[in-house]
Amino acid sequence: MSDITKQSLSELVKNIKDKKLSSEEVTKAFINRSEKSKELNAYITEDYSSALEKAKKFDQKPNLQLKLPGIPMAVKDLFCTDSIRTTAGSKILNNFVPTYESTVTQNIWNEGAILLGKLNCDEFAMGSSNETSFFGNVQNPIDKNLVPGGSSGGSASAVAGQLTPITIGTDTGGSIRQPASFTGTVGLKPTYGSCSRYGIVAFASSLDQAGPMAQNVKDCALLQEVISTYDPKDSTSIDFKRNEYSKELSKNIKGKKIGIPKEYRVDGMPKEIEELWQKGIQYAKDCGAEILDISLPHTSYALPTYYIVAPAEASSNLARYDGVKYGFRAKGGENLTEMYEKTRSEGFGAEVQRRIMIGTYVLSSGYYDAYYLKAQKVRKLIKNDFDEAYKKVDAILTPSTPSSAFKIGEKKDDPVSMYLNDIFTVPVNLAGLPGISIPAGHDAKGYPLGLQIIGKAFDEQNILNIAYAMEEKINFKNKITDWWIK
Ligand code: GLN
Repeated sequence: MSDITKQSLSELVKNIKDKKLSSEEVTKAFINRSEKSKELNAYITEDYSSALEKAKKFDQKPNLQLKLPGIPMAVKDLFCTDSIRTTAGSKILNNFVPTYESTVTQNIWNEGAILLGKLNCDEFAMGSSNETSFFGNVQNPIDKNLVPGGSSGGSASAVAGQLTPITIGTDTGGSIRQPASFTGTVGLKPTYGSCSRYGIVAFASSLDQAGPMAQNVKDCALLQEVISTYDPKDSTSIDFKRNEYSKELSKNIKGKKIGIPKEYRVDGMPKEIEELWQKGIQYAKDCGAEILDISLPHTSYALPTYYIVAPAEASSNLARYDGVKYGFRAKGGENLTEMYEKTRSEGFGAEVQRRIMIGTYVLSSGYYDAYYLKAQKVRKLIKNDFDEAYKKVDAILTPSTPSSAFKIGEKKDDPVSMYLNDIFTVPVNLAGLPGISIPAGHDAKGYPLGLQIIGKAFDEQNILNIAYAMEEKINFKNKITDWWIK
């Protein structure tokens, strides 16, 4: 069967179940393409030979009842994988080999999938372009000069470039949805507490959430069904009734009320984004949804709130990297304090150091009330805005990002303009809600643009359904030319 790597996850699952393809054939195809795709720099660690072994083993005794039977898959290098190096894109974890598996990846292997390797990401998931990675930037399969977005940049590039049929990323402030939008792929940030954080290298624990990144909505629903489980090993995991999202997927969204928040019409928003949003509204109407204007009055405070809460939590979470128990340790240093200092200044990159300093400052006595406590209060107001809106509507439609993918290097030295990328995504994390980005059109340069559908907490099925219905109307075609394959 030709063009295996062009098939969607759902097609591959069907072909393996129907015995038209073996796991070995599928795994080989993705390994071959990944090997020809080194220029994208999507992988940090490859695990091809054991992937092939596992595929052969699967074929000897195939369990075709599983949801991901013999499906090869690469994952963001923020998920701890037992006995396989996990770096979080950082020098400080360059040699870290976990002795345990994250719950999310374990769920995936339990359903028959096979690890291809670990994908590049911004250092500790801090960034919007994958340029903070110790392992170098990642190229966007859409165009050589473009960033793939971040922090799940390697994941987005690998899915868009068909190096993996599907993947998982993490989203603390937009890191699944923004790269999905930049690469013409689908990305779901689930409700906080639906996917376990156990074994994910922590960035900001009250915001971090794992989620699927895929070629289409149906594939996204299938992976969400696999990774969303209650886990007592994560104290913030929530025990609620989870749907079989892919089985219950429906395009019937007639009568659904979709809100359009006026505060998302921000100053300086490019005309193309406004036009895309209007088109999205029309698509939703064509699907039978009812459109209502809503207000989320505290939206403009979301970004400053996020950039206090996230660095505060990061500064605390990253205190453990001190060169003592694991990870990189700098040479020299006269005493323990000097060893800590050298290790942390040599082991962390500039952006991570900036966040640690901001976070330490906003938590310090004297500034705690003025910054951190204040940010917590504003976070609650942002959450209240959504609660109010959801008395009137079932979901909210916004653009995913304020622009299409930008050039490698363009924003690297301007952190504030980099942070502005998250303007439409961070409110969703602060409120703990699910949000999905779907590709919805192209800008004048031909680069993809995404729309975001935000749901009520635990209402993943509803936003997946809306996305599924709109996807059919939008009929988006990603322009991938394989320019990187010689
Ligand atoms: N771009 C945001 C940041 O740099 C979001 C990152 C994320 O979601 N992990 O913090």
